[in-house]
Amino acid sequence: MLYIGSHTSFLKDKQLLGVVEESLSYGSNAFMFYTGSNQSTLRFPINEELTKKAHELMKENNIDKNNCIVHAPFIINLANNTDKDKYNFYINFLKQELKRCIELDIRKMVLHPGSYTTLNRTLGIENIANGLNIALKDIDGVELLLEYMSGKGTEVGSSINDLEEIINKLDKNVKDKVFVCLDTCHMNDSGVDLKDIDNFLEEFDKKIGINKIKCIHINDSYNEVGSHKDRHANIGYGKIGFEKLIKVIYNPKLDNIPKILETPWINRNEKDAWAPYKKEIEMIRKEEFVDYINL
Ligand code: FE
Ligand code: FE
Ligand code: ZN
Repeated sequence: MLYIGSHTSFLKDKQLLGVVEESLSYGSNAFMFYTGSNQSTLRFPINEELTKKAHELMKENNIDKNNCIVHAPFIINLANNTDKDKYNFYINFLKQELKRCIELDIRKMVLHPGSYTTLNRTLGIENIANGLNIALKDIDGVELLLEYMSGKGTEVGSSINDLEEIINKLDKNVKDKVFVCLDTCHMNDSGVDLKDIDNFLEEFDKKIGINKIKCIHINDSYNEVGSHKDRHANIGYGKIGFEKLIKVIYNPKLDNIPKILETPWINRNEKDAWAPYKKEIEMIRKEEFVDYINL
């Protein structure tokens, strides 16, 4: 079964209910959102009534909450611990965000593993594992998904080996709560040609286990394989292209895993900006590319 949706806006006045309404307007049966700003730690309280209404609307429209995902804010960086106060702040903030997921009854959260900046890869991996061990120790009922990254700058998590090493350093009871979120733009930019997706999945299965994949971000990329850039393009308008993305989306080994679009809005810096998701979801369901931007 295809579960497809997009990134959506979680705003103060409508919260999760707004997210569900937006998703339905795109024809989605899955979605993702930040529980506040993605660049800051300011958070408004969650309104129980809106959450209840949102879950009712999801039920009416057959949206299973297991296909719905929260994205942790970008500013959390567990890979560098040179400033202990900052590192502890990020761990605590991650914990708070996980509790917010429980409050919203959305039980999956994606996290960027982090950038080691002034340290090195080995220390970065150790810090991430240590941070996760602390943050997840006493929190049950939320799955944490480490995102596969493009390898921009000093990002950790841009290879199967990086993710495997992090997961292998987790305490036993934490390991069961940690999963992986793939991202087609990041995979391409990290050096994986998506025409070889089956080889990638075979290696992933050997080293981590394919059952650890709990979400896939579907994005085209403005850049070539191995560019380490991380610039998302609209589906069919980038260097990966429509055909390869369709092969990933409909790969039988990835069936039933929620697929989330994080492609840029059209005319995004202008007044008439609009979300591409309804169009992209339609094309994906029909498996047919339409040059809707230039129509
Ligand atoms: Fe992400
Ligand atoms: Fe992503
Ligand atoms: Zn990205």
